[in-house]
Amino acid sequence: MTLINENYLHLEESYLFSTINKKVEKYQKENPEANIISMGIGDVTRPLPQAVIKAFKKAVEEMGRKETFKGYGPEQGYSFLREAIIENDYKPRGVELNLEEVFISDGAKCDTANIQEIFSTENKIAITDPVYPVYVESNVMAGRGGPLDKKGRYKNITYLPCTAENNFQPPTPEEKVDLIYLCYPNNPTGTSLTKDQLKEWVDYAMDNKSIILFDGAYEAYIQEERIPHSIYEIEGAREVAIEFRSFSKTAGFTGTRCAYTIVPEELEAEDSQGKTHQVNKLWKRRQTTKFNGVSYPVQVAAAATYTEKGRKEIKESIKYYMENARIIRESLEDTSLEYYGGVNAPYIWVKTPNMSSWQFFDKLLEEAQVVVTPGTGFGPSGEGYFRLTAFNTRKNTKEAMKRIKKIEF
Ligand code: PLP
Repeated sequence: MTLINENYLHLEESYLFSTINKKVEKYQKENPEANIISMGIGDVTRPLPQAVIKAFKKAVEEMGRKETFKGYGPEQGYSFLREAIIENDYKPRGVELNLEEVFISDGAKCDTANIQEIFSTENKIAITDPVYPVYVESNVMAGRGGPLDKKGRYKNITYLPCTAENNFQPPTPEEKVDLIYLCYPNNPTGTSLTKDQLKEWVDYAMDNKSIILFDGAYEAYIQEERIPHSIYEIEGAREVAIEFRSFSKTAGFTGTRCAYTIVPEELEAEDSQGKTHQVNKLWKRRQTTKFNGVSYPVQVAAAATYTEKGRKEIKESIKYYMENARIIRESLEDTSLEYYGGVNAPYIWVKTPNMSSWQFFDKLLEEAQVVVTPGTGFGPSGEGYFRLTAFNTRKNTKEAMKRIKKIEF
């Protein structure tokens, strides 16, 4: 009989969202009058900017005319979009990139999951905990995880706990690790790193010949000047880092799908004989073999986010979400709950008062009819925390926080 990839058997079943849904459904059935508000959603709720829709429609029309129809596009993405990314997202921050270093894709999720494939399974992986679960799980699938222990940790992965005790800034590992996943601004803790803090990681990677996989999916939410938008703002990072970005949370593309990954030409890794290779070439080889590019209309739509109108509209949406974040933080000030993040990210990470993440989830559902995401869904160090998001409407955000403020903790 055909054999399976047994690494999949090590994967922990992800019950998080199905358990949340089941609990919510049961509560709603028993309390049909209850107006339940979800403060757990990790998806955007505002529509695509009008500038994007206009460009999108025009590009779709082009596909319907013989003269302008387009078949397969370049696997790495159309140069008009790659140029716009370099000019708008990097040049103004003093980062020089060339076209060959920018790879357009249909999501940061697939890129952050697929990137490990070009590196040896012998590599030691370090991952901040709690974090976006894709990094851990894609490495477990590839065989870098090993068995799961009782604490919910894969034996062969180095976890870097991020908790209130270390101010969500994990120290660099004492041992040598080869690939390090960093996500800043962070999902789920909503915290960010300053230039000096990020520099420590770049220095570690340079000293240990490691590679940093930097997920900047929430870069557009950064409000404070002291927070770097790209890891390449740190000297030396071109030699040690790959950066992932996405139009999903920046411009409402979660259902439209467009993202990009930067692989600098200086970035090198070794083979087992000690010979060095350009990582950019490997990723290009991987992408051109396994990926046929993002559709032309979607890339045109993404490029429209850089027009004057597009930028203005995006700014408005982000301002709207960040005002929700401010309302959440201000409301939490009136409670005894300790909270973190929400200043440079749409996520607010809250400590549960002497109860587990799930106990707190139940309490909020029953006493306030508010749904949150239990921290354990993001890794073992998420126990004792829960995540609130700023992606709801203003009205719901205000109402949910009004209800939370009334609860006795
Ligand atoms: N990276 C992080 C940290 C995320 O939280 C998410 C989505 O929630 C993604 C990547 C996914 O991005 P995309 O929609 O581009 O696949």
